[in-house]
Amino acid sequence: MDVQLLTEHENAQLGTRQPLPEAYLGLSDEEMDARLGAARAALGDAVVILGHHYQRDEVIRFADFTGDSLRLSRQAATRADARYIVFCGVQFMAESADVLAAPGQQVILPDLAAGCSMADMATIDQLETCWDELEAAGVAGVLPVTYINSAAAIKAFCGEHGGAVCTSSNAAAVLAWGWRRAATLLMLPDQHLGRNTACAMGVPLDEMVVWDPDEPLGGLTPDALARARLILWKGHCSVHERFTVAQIDRFRAAHPDGRVIVHPECTFDVVQAADETGSTERIVQRVTESPAGSVWAVGTEIHLVSRLARQVAPERTVVTLDPFGCLCSTMFRVSPNHLLWVLESLIEGRVHNRVVVPEGRKRWARVALDRMLEIT
Ligand code: SF4
Repeated sequence: MDVQLLTEHENAQLGTRQPLPEAYLGLSDEEMDARLGAARAALGDAVVILGHHYQRDEVIRFADFTGDSLRLSRQAATRADARYIVFCGVQFMAESADVLAAPGQQVILPDLAAGCSMADMATIDQLETCWDELEAAGVAGVLPVTYINSAAAIKAFCGEHGGAVCTSSNAAAVLAWGWRRAATLLMLPDQHLGRNTACAMGVPLDEMVVWDPDEPLGGLTPDALARARLILWKGHCSVHERFTVAQIDRFRAAHPDGRVIVHPECTFDVVQAADETGSTERIVQRVTESPAGSVWAVGTEIHLVSRLARQVAPERTVVTLDPFGCLCSTMFRVSPNHLLWVLESLIEGRVHNRVVVPEGRKRWARVALDRMLEIT
């Protein structure tokens, strides 16, 4: 089908959150499913819908691809025939998709309020201040590395300063690459991923320091910084930080033969107490390939754990490590209502909630992402 291009007025609205029209509130599940299916079919190859692992079922069932953020962006780039990439994830994922998109592709985030608390913990102003303070303190030759869960501006800074992006599955390879180039790395924005990864690589904890962006010189002394091999930005995921060692102890008491697998965004103590750690892709692989009769406690977002439990039942048992379930509330903002609105608007020739990374930033963010792809 033919979908019109953006008007100048709509271009001026880019990045502005547009409220969901009232007509899209209060729809029944049946009407929602029927209209989503019809809109998806009408748009055909003009659209590719991406669904992150943490997305809710009512949305993900309409996704053409599911996976983690990097895998989804790569898959979208293979669909250069799709003029529109509808990313059912959060802001930084849509930004990465825009950076990696083929020329002419437009990226849409169904609700622009779907941010990421971790990505928001490192702003470009804070990073530039940190960089200036490190230089003024005589800490030279630091290489910046950022987790993919960060704003495009942070990725661009890393690209421009010789650094790279990493994911939870390739963080060790990227850190090893970094240490071949510099004695000290600055890892943003997740301190836990950085600490857990470096520790597994044999770096002692006393060679890592935590940079608090709200304190002068990160709350550190020039001596402590000079001794550090890894400067960890004081950021975390509010979902994964909720898992505790006490939860692991309770699971083991109830299931002595069970295994515990957690995401590396969990705290150091939790990762140390678990049997295994891994990215979302790794967690899915380990559980689905485990022998029949296996019992797992999984420490990651509840939608992935619930879907995984259904997928491997009844041969295996999968439970969430947190009995109250850890929900990514910002990812949850992308509702089927929002998805329906953006799809039906495309049919009418209107693009809502487009995510655009400015050109200069896009170029350097792409450099940082490409470095990562060359490393792994
Ligand atoms: S789970 Fe954590 S890191 Fe992932 S999108 Fe949600 S807040 Fe961000």
